Amino acid sequence: MNGVSNLALERESRVGNIAFIDLKAQQKVIRERVEKRLLAVLDHGRYIAGPEIDELEETLEQKTGAKHVIACSNGTDALIIPMMALNLTREDAVFIPGFTYNATANAVLIAGGTPVFVDIDPDTFNMSTTDLITRIEEVKLEGRLKPRVICAVDLFGSPADYNVLNRIAEAEDMLVFADGAQSFGGKLDGQWVGNLAPVTGTSFFPGKALGAYGDAGATLVRDDDEMAKICESIRWHGTDEQRRESVRVGINGRMSTFMAAVLLEKVAIFYDELEARHRIARIYNERLSDIARPQQHVDGAESGYGYYTIAIDNRDAVREKAGEAGVPTAIYYMQPLHQMKAFEAYAPEGGLPNCEKAAGDVLSLPMHPYLTEEQAHFICDVMHAAVKEV
Ligand SMILES: *Cc1c(COP(=O)(O)O)cnc(C)c1O
Repeated sequence: MNGVSNLALERESRVGNIAFIDLKAQQKVIRERVEKRLLAVLDHGRYIAGPEIDELEETLEQKTGAKHVIACSNGTDALIIPMMALNLTREDAVFIPGFTYNATANAVLIAGGTPVFVDIDPDTFNMSTTDLITRIEEVKLEGRLKPRVICAVDLFGSPADYNVLNRIAEAEDMLVFADGAQSFGGKLDGQWVGNLAPVTGTSFFPGKALGAYGDAGATLVRDDDEMAKICESIRWHGTDEQRRESVRVGINGRMSTFMAAVLLEKVAIFYDELEARHRIARIYNERLSDIARPQQHVDGAESGYGYYTIAIDNRDAVREKAGEAGVPTAIYYMQPLHQMKAFEAYAPEGGLPNCEKAAGDVLSLPMHPYLTEEQAHFICDVMHAAVKEV
């Protein structure tokens, strides 16, 4: 029997089963309150646009500092809605990192823009600001597209380099969007995600740090009242404020009242959970830095730790060993977007070397607030043993 398995047997009784994300443990904490909330929705019967939607929007405005929160159907629509507000055409370039979930690119194309892929920084896995500058210059030189939007992604919860991104956008007369689908609870220079870019889209998919019990999302508008109004209209089929006449093309982008009811109870414990995520991340950072390269964060940034991700040599072999020892891991993402069939028409010449390398190296470890410190140490022990063996 190999060393990792021995270790696993030895610790099994003490650490129990480790989940990659443990929604069941969380549900135990909030079950009664969620049941009450769901029953209240059944009683009032306003399944769409119920009072819980307003309450959630106000709560999230208070928590994040964004002036307007528009609750919507999912994290992808949370990006599509504000992008539709810009009336993008195929001549408009929207710069996105090549290493992200497919939804970022889908949102750009569905909203009518053209994605321009940008390489990532190898340490933060977020959009490289130097490569962004190069690609903006390329687009301007070529003259076919007009640079309109920089849509950064806060990968794994770690805020992108908004101080630099906002400066570039200002100089180029562009707009910064944040795909904050993974970063609710992240911070930069003391400001919460939602307040780092003029527009942020976030996701409440069940597996995200703040997750509903079904699909849900929100567009957060930092201060632009007009943008918020247009987003509200687009979310509701493009209607006017009385929701009668269509004044623009819109979508059905509403959030179910049931999801808002669940989210209200999840938000109530979110910030304690965030502290717990940070405690686990500190253990991982301390104990894994000698065998792997944990994701780095830009100066002044705190990750929301939706995921805890490292780059590691012999990734696939290490992953297999860890799995055998009872440590579930995941790979986000195995393939950069510019190499996927749907988006290969937008692949830049010469590829995106850092995106391609990251796809081969990254590994996400169990990360949720109900991991004990003992479990975190066990996971580190297993990772060390696995690295020795491969
Ligand atoms: C999850 C995710 C989305 C999409 O969110 P959905 O709620 O699943 O639509 C968009 N971008 C990124 C980076 C994501 O991780």
